[in-house]
Amino acid sequence: DRQPVAAAQKAASNKPKAFDFKNLPQVQQLQLQRAAADMIGIENPFFRPHDGLAAGTTLIDGKPYDNFASYNYIGLNGHPDVNAAAKNALETFGTSVSASRIVAGERAFHAELEQGLARIHGVESAVVMVSGHATNVTTIGHLMKKGDLVLTDTLVHNSIAEGVRLSGATRINFPHDDLDALEQLLISNRHKFENVLVIVEGLYSMDGDFPDLKRVIKLKQDYDAWLMVDEAHSIGVLGKTGRGIAEHFGIDPQSVEIWMGTLSKTFSSCGGYIAGSKVLCDYLKVSAPGFVFSVGLSPALAGAAIASVKLLEREPERVARLQANGKHFLEYAKQAGLDTGPSRGYAVVPVIVGESATAAILSNKLLARGINALPIIFPAVPEKSARIRYFITSEHTFEQIERAVAITAEELAKLRKDGGAVERLLQ
Ligand code: PMP
Repeated sequence: DRQPVAAAQKAASNKPKAFDFKNLPQVQQLQLQRAAADMIGIENPFFRPHDGLAAGTTLIDGKPYDNFASYNYIGLNGHPDVNAAAKNALETFGTSVSASRIVAGERAFHAELEQGLARIHGVESAVVMVSGHATNVTTIGHLMKKGDLVLTDTLVHNSIAEGVRLSGATRINFPHDDLDALEQLLISNRHKFENVLVIVEGLYSMDGDFPDLKRVIKLKQDYDAWLMVDEAHSIGVLGKTGRGIAEHFGIDPQSVEIWMGTLSKTFSSCGGYIAGSKVLCDYLKVSAPGFVFSVGLSPALAGAAIASVKLLEREPERVARLQANGKHFLEYAKQAGLDTGPSRGYAVVPVIVGESATAAILSNKLLARGINALPIIFPAVPEKSARIRYFITSEHTFEQIERAVAITAEELAKLRKDGGAVERLLQ
């Protein structure tokens, strides 16, 4: 009987052809924004093609630019030891471990990397996963549940927000780095929830500042909460030997329940990890969906990260160089009258300019003068605090830093003198 089929086909053909991605309101919104930017001549600063390895300098269209847009904090990307370790692992194990470690089995490099990361953090154990973002999502999503509370700094990374959403726990933000507000939230909410997790970052990548970890630890102890610290931007950056925020404050790393980090920045690889007690890491290895149901870290990526861990341990002078560069950038920018917000001068220094369009135009002006530094615009930051964000590495020279600051100040002054670049372009 063809009747039901014919009826279904007729119904489908009568239906307006609504399902086309370009009809989605959010897609249209983005297209509109792009069209408006094109109209006033703001070139898209994102997704620019680069050739070759980006360190203190990067090649765009074959031309070298001073580069302030990469997380290659201690310059290990492309280091001969890192490349050799990646190649060696690739030659021995191929490009993939082809399945979750639970079924595909363990290979020595996974354990070696996890032991190295545990050593760096000064804790018992670690577990590596295939991305930093996925590590936060699955760990928080898995450990917390409905009836629990997660207290987060308002500037925590998207992966943390996604993890809390997945978990079903209640999330309350405290204003950025306002630990009095955190305490108030603990006082008024602790008793209403079973487990409470406080999440902060070791270095905030929008503002370049970090919390008073001693006080955060005291608070979580006083109010019986767990503490998670995302060290994506602080490992290799803070502390005399780059061991992160615990070393910076002289804190026993075991007093934090969950350390999180990524392999994509200081460790010049790709992947994420949790470091902490053996109980926690063993539990995640048999139950966190992002570990259990996802492939193990690939051999070359693990090899690169192992070599990077060793280099961080062997060459603390890289950290010293990075710290000297960050401090120099911050001091110089302040002298030039730039608004660097609350940055403490460790690897991340924003220059806050106001409107998103001003930040985008300034970024293009910088590029025209040989400097690659990207704008951070709404909605990543509030509309009035759009900025150019400078990532400083151990590979920059003081000359590059001074030039970048001087040109930024000069171009920003010109834009301001023009009486609001966007308004003028729109007239
Ligand atoms: N946490 C923080 C604080 C981050 O900034 C990032 C990425 N920049 C991540 C987690 C995710 O790491 P990855 O990019 O290695 O996935």
